[in-house]
Parts: sequence; C-alpha cells; structure tokens
Amino acid sequence: MMSRDILALLAFIFGSILGSFLNVLIYRLPRNESIVSPPSKCPHCGYRIHPWENIPVIGYLIVRGRCRNCQQRISLQYPIVEFAGGLVAALVIWNTGLNWAAISVIVLFYLLGVAAIVDLRHQVIPDGITLTGILLGIILSSFQSPGFNGLFRSIFGILAGGGSLYLVAVFGNFVFQKESMGGGDIKLAAMFGAFLGWKLTLIGIFLGFFIGAVFGGIYLALNRGKDDQQTVTSDEAKVDKTAMPEGNVLPFGPSLALGAVGSLFWGNSLLNWYLTSFM
Ligand SMILES: [Zn+2]
Repeated sequence: MMSRDILALLAFIFGSILGSFLNVLIYRLPRNESIVSPPSKCPHCGYRIHPWENIPVIGYLIVRGRCRNCQQRISLQYPIVEFAGGLVAALVIWNTGLNWAAISVIVLFYLLGVAAIVDLRHQVIPDGITLTGILLGIILSSFQSPGFNGLFRSIFGILAGGGSLYLVAVFGNFVFQKESMGGGDIKLAAMFGAFLGWKLTLIGIFLGFFIGAVFGGIYLALNRGKDDQQTVTSDEAKVDKTAMPEGNVLPFGPSLALGAVGSLFWGNSLLNWYLTSFM
C-alpha cells in the first residue's frame, strides 16, 4: 500500500504534465489547430521547443520565462496552468485517495479551467471541450456507481444543465430581442451536469448567475469610470460609448465554471442549509 504523501506527489507530477497538455488545448482549440500533430513551438518565432524546456514549471524556470531563440516573454499562464494542474490532482488524491470519484473531480476541474480561460480570452467555449467533456462525464459517472445509477445521474445532470440554460437563452432572446446567452454556455452547463448530477448542477448555475452579477457590476463600475473621464474630454466620446460594440460583453463561461466549482464543494451544504432553514 502506497503512502498517501507519495501518492499525492505522483499525482502532482502527473497532473502538471496534464497541465501542459491543457495549455496546448487553451492555445490551439480556439484557433482550430490540431491538438496532437505539430510539436510545441514559440508563438513568436516558431522555434521548436525541446522536450527538456517542456518539463512542467521547471522548464519555464530554466529558460527564465523567455524563448531561447527570440527572447520574447513566455506567458505566465503556462507555468501557472501546469502548477494548478498538479496542485488540483495532488489535493484531491491526498484527500480522497485514488478512485473514480477523485479522477472525475480532477477531470471536471481541468475541463472547467480550460473552458473559463478560453472564454475569457476569445469569448468562445470550444465544442472540443464541452462535447468531449459531456462524454467523459457520462463515462466517469458510470464507473462510479453500480448498474445504471451513475449513467442516469449523469444524463439527468446534462438535461438539467443544458435544459435550464436553454430556457434562459430562449427567454433572454425574447425579452432583449438579441442573443443574450451563447450556445457555448448551454453546452458548458450540460458538461458539468454530466459530472455533478441535476441537484448540484442547478445550484452551480444559480451560483454562476450570482457570481456573474457581481463580476458584471464590478465591470460596469470600472467602465463607467472610463466613461466619465471621456465625457469631460469630448462630446464625441460620449456618442461613441453609447454605441458599444456588441462583442464587448463580459463572457459568462468563467462565472458559470466558478459556480460549478462552488457547487462541487458546498452544494450539498447549501442545499441542506436551505432545506432546514426555509422548508
Ligand atoms: Zn521565440
């Protein structure tokens, strides 16, 4: 029997290697590039990155955060995602041991992380993440429970997540007469539904709206500050600001992903508190 510490250390190493694969997904999926074929290259000069420079976190430290060929800065996102990938795996495995539930939680974390970062950067959540994620959720849930229990739990979760956001989208389109929620958000909710089951999924969506409202408020407050400065300088700026470009909206995916994580940790406590306090 392997000690818990050694198991967690191995989980960190394996998780950080998966983290560098997540970096590949984050970079290539929104650009519709193959996630397997060409080996890693510097995005600035095309320099082919050697395997030892690709060692998670350590590689970044060895090259001091710069491309060895063109000396351009390498985004801090790379070592952060690698480290986070290792940390999530180590913490989950250290807490619960190596089992299907632990693997399911780790995979869900990775999928949510990639979806949130890509949505922040490109305002799109690739199907490559959500549809693959739905499939992984069904498989991993089936492994966790005997018979068809896990499978049914997963399917109800997909329907609850995708269905409720679909209804919100239809309602939003009707009220605002423009697209208020993207198909990517709907598929993202269906994806974490496949892992969480319907109860935690609905709580996750509720938390996601709450978090989104808080972020949206902060975003508006910050942008209003900019507005005020511009109206002082010229009237034209004021006219420009009222016609804000349609693409300039806060993506909802990151809030939704945070809501799902919150529900994973505290969903059951929230549900118990609500039922005992108000029912
Ligand atoms: Zn370079």
